[in-house]
Amino acid sequence: MDCSVTLKSKLPQVKTTIFTRMSALAAQENALNLSQGFPDFDCPPALSKAVQKAMAEGKNQYAPMAGLMSLREKIARKTQELYGAEYHPETEITITAGATQALFTAITAVIRYGDEALIFEPAYDCYAPAVELAGGVCKFVKLKPSDSYKIDWEAVKKLCSKNTRLIIINSPHNPSGSVLGEEDMKKLEKLVEGTDIVILSDEVYEHIVFDGIRHESICRYPNLARRSFVVSSFGKTYHVTGWKTGYVVAPAELMAEFRKVHQYNVFCVNHPMQAAICDFMDNTAHHLELAAFYQTKRDLFVNLLNGSRFEITPSAGTYFQNLNYTAITEEGDVDFAVRLTREHKIASIPLSVFYRDNADYNRLRFCFAKGDETLKKAAEILCRI
Ligand code: PMP
Ligand code: GLN
Repeated sequence: MDCSVTLKSKLPQVKTTIFTRMSALAAQENALNLSQGFPDFDCPPALSKAVQKAMAEGKNQYAPMAGLMSLREKIARKTQELYGAEYHPETEITITAGATQALFTAITAVIRYGDEALIFEPAYDCYAPAVELAGGVCKFVKLKPSDSYKIDWEAVKKLCSKNTRLIIINSPHNPSGSVLGEEDMKKLEKLVEGTDIVILSDEVYEHIVFDGIRHESICRYPNLARRSFVVSSFGKTYHVTGWKTGYVVAPAELMAEFRKVHQYNVFCVNHPMQAAICDFMDNTAHHLELAAFYQTKRDLFVNLLNGSRFEITPSAGTYFQNLNYTAITEEGDVDFAVRLTREHKIASIPLSVFYRDNADYNRLRFCFAKGDETLKKAAEILCRI
C-alpha cells in the first residue's frame, strides 16, 4: 500500500538489527547460529511448570504496575544478599518487559532535549537510539581490543560537560566479554562526585563472570547507587530470553521518574511469568552456579579452538567469545561474517556494528550459550578456516 504522508524519521538509521539479520541468514543458509545471543537449550523444567501452574491458577490478568510485590520482595532480598544494598520493594524496584524496556524507560525518563549521554563503544545497540529519540546527544567513548577495552577515565572526564546527564555502563560487557573492576568503579565515583550525572548500569550478565572474579555491581558502591538505575534480565539468568522479563532498581526519587514513563509505556508486565520466576527464585543455586555453568562452556569452546588460526583472549564474562581473525584474511568483519555463514555454515556477529563509525578491528563475536555438541561442531568448522 502507498503511504500518503511524508515522514521525517526520528532516528539516523532505521534498519533491522544485526542480530535479526544474522539469525535470518543463518536459517537461510542452514548454518550453526552462534550470532544472536540466546541459549539453544531450555530453561529448568520447574520454571516452565511454574508458568503453567500460574496460568492454571488464573494469574492471567494485569499484574500491578510496578510488578508483583512478592517478586519485588525477592529481588530486594537477593540484591541485599549479593551486593549488600537495600532497595525498598514498594518504591525502588520495578519489573520490566526485559532489560530493553528498562533501559529505554530509564533513558527517556532522564534525558531532555540537548542533554548529553556518554556511551562506551563497542555498545549494545539499544542505548543510542533511545537517547536520540528523547532528543539527547550521544558522546561516544571508543574502547579498543588492543587496550583490552580498558576505560581511560581521564579521557572520559574531558568529555563531560555541564550538559552531561547520563553515563551508561555495561559490565559484564556485550559484545567484548570484558568486565569492570573495583578500580573502574572508584574512578567513576570520583568522576561524578558533586555533579547531577545519572548512571545507567546495564548488568544483564551479572551472574556470568568467570575465573572467580567478583561482579562489581553498582549496588556495591553506595555513592554510585544513590544516582543509578541498575538493570537486570531474567532472560539471561534463567535461559528464557523469549520471555522478555527483567527489572530495574534505583533510589525512590529516580524510580518515581522511571514509573512516570513506565506506566504509559507498558503499564505492567506479563503476569504468569512474574509469578513463575518468583516461585523459582527460591532456588538460589541456579543463579549462584550460572558462572560455573557458562565457564565450562567457554573453556570447552576456547580449548577446542587452540590450534586454529583465530587469536583468542578468553572472555571474562557474558556468554560471548570474541575471535580475532587478523591472521586469516584482510576482509572487513561484516563481509567475513557473511562469508563464514554462507560458505562455512557458521554465523557470528561482526564487532564493527557496535561502533557508530563502524570501526573494524577484525573481531567476530560468537555466542557459546549452546549445547556442547553445537560448540564442538562450531570449533571443528572454525579450526578448518
Ligand atoms: N543489554 C545487553 C548488554 C544485552 O546483551 C541484552 C540482550 N542480549 C539486553 C540488554 C536486553 O535484554 P532483554 O532481552 O532482557 O531485553
Ligand atoms: N542481546 C542479544 C545479543 O546481543 C540480542 C537481542 C536482540 O536480538 N535484540 O545477541
